[in-house]
Amino acid sequence: MSVLDEPLYFGTAPHEYPARAARVTLVGAGPGDPELLTVRAARALGSASLVLYDHLVSRDVLRLVPEGADLIYVGKESAHHTLPQEDICALMVRLARSGRALVRLKGGDPYIFGRGGEEAQALAAAGVPFEVVPGISAAQAAAAEAGMPLTHRDHATSVVLATGHRRADAGDELDMDWAALARPRQTVVIYMGVSNLGPICARLAAHGLSPETPAALVERASQPGSRRVVGTLQSLPALALLHAVRAPALLIVGGVVTLHQALGSCTMAGVATA
Ligand code: SAH
Repeated sequence: MSVLDEPLYFGTAPHEYPARAARVTLVGAGPGDPELLTVRAARALGSASLVLYDHLVSRDVLRLVPEGADLIYVGKESAHHTLPQEDICALMVRLARSGRALVRLKGGDPYIFGRGGEEAQALAAAGVPFEVVPGISAAQAAAAEAGMPLTHRDHATSVVLATGHRRADAGDELDMDWAALARPRQTVVIYMGVSNLGPICARLAAHGLSPETPAALVERASQPGSRRVVGTLQSLPALALLHAVRAPALLIVGGVVTLHQALGSCTMAGVATA
């Protein structure tokens, strides 16, 4: 496997582009454990010759790519993107037009907070044929491992997936519909919420949820060293600091969190005060 230093050119001048672009496969890499890939994703990786991948894609998943394939890291840790999103889209279009079939590998599901939608739009606009292979999203992996069913007739009849980190040009990054998020009998799952945990918990409480509402952080779901830290809206921010919870982690809020004692995986480390 080799990393390409100058991926934008690839030895193909624009006038030499084949008339028809090669296919791009946007693949959901799941939450980290390669056993949680779909069969279709594993097949796409096993026959890939060129892969663009993000920060969240695990090494174990990348091991499924054949020796000799070209791997390009395009990053995406919040705050410092290795390549800006527009450049990633432009790179995908160029590579496809140069005639090389390309696997675009993204953590979890490409269409859940992964900007897969933006990449698919860029491909569609450029007339590049593409296919999307869904992946298991972090919420599903965290729920299964931590023992917090996302819906449960006794606790939650709906589930909301939200982001705690919005694009910088969107103004107040916590400008969300808090009243909707604070509805009763609902599970709220917040992606990318660790750095804003205090304000998020405070706003949910300010908009009507009891400060005693069960809340948990699930860190590195499905990966070695996964943990759950369980408390309440009031206690969780301090617990997160105390236990040094870091991204990638999900915030899960609602009655289903209490089920972790009975349903959580015994191999997942846990800290619980509620
Ligand atoms: N497309 C991805 C989400 C990308 S946004 C998906 O469907 O899962 C990145 C955020 O996802 C992280 O900040 C974290 O909140 C969450 N995340 C991704 N992988 C995770 C994991 N293994 N455990 C817990 N949270 C995870």
